[in-house]
Amino acid sequence: MAVAGRVWIVGAGPGSPDLLTRRAVACLRRADLVLYDALVDERVLNLARRAQRFFVGKRAGRHALSQAEIHAVMIRAARRGRRVVRLKGGDPFVFGRGGEEVQALQAAGVTYEIVPGLTSAIAAPALAGIPVTHRGLSSAFLVVSGHDEALFARLVGETAPEHVTLVVLMGRRRRAALAGILLERGWAQDTPAAVIADASRAGQQVWRGTVAGLARGEGVLEGDGPATFVIGETAALALAAEVRESEPVRALGADRRG
Ligand code: SAH
Repeated sequence: MAVAGRVWIVGAGPGSPDLLTRRAVACLRRADLVLYDALVDERVLNLARRAQRFFVGKRAGRHALSQAEIHAVMIRAARRGRRVVRLKGGDPFVFGRGGEEVQALQAAGVTYEIVPGLTSAIAAPALAGIPVTHRGLSSAFLVVSGHDEALFARLVGETAPEHVTLVVLMGRRRRAALAGILLERGWAQDTPAAVIADASRAGQQVWRGTVAGLARGEGVLEGDGPATFVIGETAALALAAEVRESEPVRALGADRRG
């Protein structure tokens, strides 16, 4: 079926608008309708000047719209000839349900494009000066959700503790339990660990310590912004991250400066 409209599945990066791709900016400027999630920054949304904007994410634990409803809204709007941007934090295909949405668009015969974004799995550590790979320290990185402890235990159980960087998304509240699982699976107590909250945003915070510290409940940061944690030898690196005047980087704990 021929449809005039189109859906762009767009990654918004970790927060700061200057970490958007140029293609994402162009899509936002042309959009008639923007459907966005909880982690999308206000400043990014403001680029979609002529669009209607709808929040379709999760707020206070409740989904504004179900996944099926999001699909239906995108499909209906595209069929009416609208330029729809489905805007997601980071990269749309990293824990963002972007894949499911594309499948729904395919099934409906709606034209779509995918606009990759900078994933926080790599950008959050990088903004804290932590590379996910580093010659001699880490030759691989495993990006894993901290949402499901049993699945986490299985995945890390099959991963050798050396030469790999573990990047955990969606694990802020469970980080002590998750670190405990790593210790049980043979990760050394003093394996470096870092927690990065609100990467690229005004309130960016970094905690550094060890996996044993995390398991004891350390790594508490202010606020309830999104946080990523990193475990592995590279987490001890603090390569000078560029600090922008307009976006002060506040570091806590062992990373406190001055
Ligand atoms: N698609 C997104 C991830 C969605 S899952 C991406 O590619 O980045 C949401 C998780 O991403 C959060 O629980 C947190 O672990 C991480 N996250 C998103 N934005 C972040 C930020 N600015 N700083 C630190 N972690 C972030």
